Amino acid sequence: MNLRSIIRPSVWELAAYSSARSDYSGAATTTMLDANENPYGRAYSRYPDPKQTQLRQRLATLRKVHPDQILVGNGSDEIIDLLMRLTCQPRQDRILTLDPSYGMYSVCAAVNEVPLDMVPLEEDLTVNTQAVLDAISTHKLILLCSPNNPNGDIIADSTIEQILAKAKGLVVIDEAYIDFTDRDSWLSRLSDYPQLVVLQTFSKSWAAAGLRVGMAYADKSLVELLHKIKPPYNVSAPAQEAALAVLDDFDILRKQINELIEQRQLLADALTKLPIVQKVFPSQANFLLVRFDDALAVYDLLKYNGIIVRDRSRHTHCQGCLRITIGTPAQNKLLLDTLKNIG
Ligand SMILES: *Cc1c(COP(=O)(O)O)cnc(C)c1O
Repeated sequence: MNLRSIIRPSVWELAAYSSARSDYSGAATTTMLDANENPYGRAYSRYPDPKQTQLRQRLATLRKVHPDQILVGNGSDEIIDLLMRLTCQPRQDRILTLDPSYGMYSVCAAVNEVPLDMVPLEEDLTVNTQAVLDAISTHKLILLCSPNNPNGDIIADSTIEQILAKAKGLVVIDEAYIDFTDRDSWLSRLSDYPQLVVLQTFSKSWAAAGLRVGMAYADKSLVELLHKIKPPYNVSAPAQEAALAVLDDFDILRKQINELIEQRQLLADALTKLPIVQKVFPSQANFLLVRFDDALAVYDLLKYNGIIVRDRSRHTHCQGCLRITIGTPAQNKLLLDTLKNIG
């Protein structure tokens, strides 16, 4: 991969930004008169570690990569934006993604004024590999979401391999829901593909959406460039601390994830049997895309009963569809009982 041909010239020429805190070694005796903070101090009077050293170390151990291969962002949403700004000159370079997929890709592309080409999924929301391959040209960024939001289906490894072989730019695999699948993360193949970027997040399976912490895993030369353009203090000190605490609770999270996977199957089976349900799309995530006879009426009735789901009926091939997050067993029972009273 010729990295230089993928990176925006203005970014390539940018000297590394040196934040006040980058020279701080961490020694307790250091007198820090560099960042105009209030010297009397209280909790969080100091700027956070711009490199998130401890957190990246822990994530590296957990995911069996090197800390230099990790960028931590203010949620993966920030990283999606950083990737666009790293590679795409507005109104000139193009991005490729599938449709329907995660809404932030198109929002972020629009904000950055980067044209977005969307390859429609098939009617059953599976990927038409040939159509994707045919659409690939000089795109600086190809955004793939697997499992895909809003349906929850996985993109086959063979499809991604062919995309990686043809892509001229970065291939980003958004693995926000990877822990709910029976698949290996693409992280294990990071060293095979210098153009590969894997996104993961604390927001879903790790039960910490409020922290706003997401990760990009990639070749270290790419991560270095992302570090050059990220806001220096993009992850707050309490968020870094709380994220480390989440990683201490991994046994509990593992149990919760397994329970959610089990509940997904039970809920899918029960929904399929309801007369008002036309289709439950296959999902390896912690949500189900469900097609109803009258989605709007179902949405309103659920809302009337205090249950909020996501209306996806206006998305490509999603007519009549609501996206329902898997809840606790009690929440899922409440949902089913409420739906049984319809029609
Ligand atoms: C929820 C979600 C995210 C998470 O974004 P954060 O900013 O990390 O909370 C990323 N990608 C997809 C596809 C999602 O559904």
